[in-house]
Amino acid sequence: LVSREVKPSDTVVTVGDVKVGGGHLAIIAGPCSVESEEQIMATARAVREAGANMLRGGAFKPRSSPYSFRGLGEVGLQLLAQARAETGLPIVTEVMTPADVDLVARYADVLQIGARNMQNYQLLEEVGRTGMPVLLKRGLSATIEEWLLSAEYIIAQGNPNVILCERGIRTFETATRNTLDLNAVAVARKRSHLPVIVDPSHGTGKWYLVPPLTLAAIAAGADGVIIEVHPDPDRAKSDGGQSLNPENFMGLVPQMRAIAKVV
Ligand code: PEP
Ligand code: MN
Repeated sequence: LVSREVKPSDTVVTVGDVKVGGGHLAIIAGPCSVESEEQIMATARAVREAGANMLRGGAFKPRSSPYSFRGLGEVGLQLLAQARAETGLPIVTEVMTPADVDLVARYADVLQIGARNMQNYQLLEEVGRTGMPVLLKRGLSATIEEWLLSAEYIIAQGNPNVILCERGIRTFETATRNTLDLNAVAVARKRSHLPVIVDPSHGTGKWYLVPPLTLAAIAAGADGVIIEVHPDPDRAKSDGGQSLNPENFMGLVPQMRAIAKVV
């Protein structure tokens, strides 16, 4: 079902007024984690002002250490809904377990499946059954074939609204947090009709590498990007080192649009 051989035309996933795929540029921005009302509202206003068309923010966070900040849970979802009410931006947020799908689906516009859960097949089927748009991140060590098969699990439940997201993979390289695999963008777009977006924040792990890799992703044919933006990255409770401040994000958006026009 994910194959271009079966369906040659690009799938366009509609999220409110926003279209993802088919030549539309999705610009999803926001903090790694929802931390407080002030933080999420300030970020939502700033990224909307800059030209983002969706807001990201984690309420349930998969952290490598159990002692790190793991998100505000349902309170975080309520704050995201408040940010949507004020800015009109649709919400992208992660759901980590099948048990939370109903809860997260009540607040979110797009259900994010994190890299660590790409092969959680029960979770994939559960989000498939909602019929809602799903952002499927590529696993840390998943092949492109495995990633596409995970998308197949969702679509097999009768939900065609899948957005693929390349977010960097594990390699021998240690200079960056992950190695952003732009090959995967071109390969996935050739093999599948699904929209493909890129996460240069997790893909690099360093805020100053986000602008060049954002532009490279769009030049490589990505249908959009998901970028971490924080009003005060040095004080972020998660992923501050890879988060843009609002000013840098604001400078990047017109460059993105300029490249998208050429591609
Ligand atoms: C995130 O988007 O903050 C996140 C945890 O991403 P990933 O699943 O790609 O690590
Ligand atoms: Mn993050």
